[in-house]
Amino acid sequence: MGPTFADRLLAWHQLHGRHDLPWQHPRSPYRVWLSEIMLQQTQVQTVIPYFERFVRHYPDLAALADAAEDDVLHLWSGLGYYSRARNLHRAARLLVERFNGDFPDDAGVLESLPGIGRSTAAAIVAQAFGRRAPILDGNVKRVLARHNAVDGFPGDSAVASRLWECAEAVTPDADAANFTQAIMDLGATVCTRTKPRCNACPVSADCRAFHTGRSTDYPGRKPRRALPEKASLFALILRADGACLLERRPPEGVWGGLWSPPELPLDTTTAALAHYLGAGDLEAEDGAPAAFIHTFSHFRLRVEPRLYRVTGANATHVRDVDTLLWYKPDAGQRIGLSAVASRLLQALETRTRI
Ligand code: SF4
Repeated sequence: MGPTFADRLLAWHQLHGRHDLPWQHPRSPYRVWLSEIMLQQTQVQTVIPYFERFVRHYPDLAALADAAEDDVLHLWSGLGYYSRARNLHRAARLLVERFNGDFPDDAGVLESLPGIGRSTAAAIVAQAFGRRAPILDGNVKRVLARHNAVDGFPGDSAVASRLWECAEAVTPDADAANFTQAIMDLGATVCTRTKPRCNACPVSADCRAFHTGRSTDYPGRKPRRALPEKASLFALILRADGACLLERRPPEGVWGGLWSPPELPLDTTTAALAHYLGAGDLEAEDGAPAAFIHTFSHFRLRVEPRLYRVTGANATHVRDVDTLLWYKPDAGQRIGLSAVASRLLQALETRTRI
């Protein structure tokens, strides 16, 4: 019998794999966990500066558990999928409360924590504790779907179970950390989405997709459906000194916990807005930034900015609640901004400079 899938992959990884990623040195459970969460839906090159900044601020689990959520979201700003940051923070607190700040080395226990699914739990166990645990992240799904010619969209449960069987079959008993890194690296650098480099691939000899010339047909695409569209008014309320009023989004749902200009129904009148905010006098102004579409995975949002100015004797007054704040981009306030908030604030700044 010739060398196994794992043998060939490990030999390739020694020569061509990535060995200098910041979370590999040291490869502590905390750093591996943080990197795995950041790498969900995000590429390595984008993650590296965020990871480095994050561990500078929060060098260990206790520091992260102690942090304010706003500070965590501020450091995450720009990386997207903010529920990852909120879950990371909640999980850090649970680990300190329930596990004395120690990382459990059991995939089942890790999976019970917020934000950690089956594959992420396995990746932590394999990389941080060196224990055999098959993984199935996006890169690995692609490699295994091609290598075994598994038809269908991996989001379907039957296809996912077939891919988990493939992952079980190729994962060796020894060298768990290196094998896990190797199969992720193969997907990220050789078996890439649009232009796989099959001629440089260590497992091409028995790759069914390669041998039928159908590498890029796998994995199957998600069935297409038109995204529903909705539209909202985004109220840009300015104070005399240029500060803009932001509202904290509810913890669940789109941009949960992040700050954004208040989002309201399109037919909201100026009087109703003033009442909602408890603001004194509010005047609508011309010159709001242009409307634009922001696309989420499940719907498209038409953002309709409108501009207002608070006036009158008590021109800074709004309801005294901790979900409203006056924000000036250059004042060093450490809060997490939604993507739309960043874009609108930038548009306001450009408009002021003109
Ligand atoms: Fe991917 Fe090509 Fe390797 Fe098959 S031979 S696993 S399609 S890179």
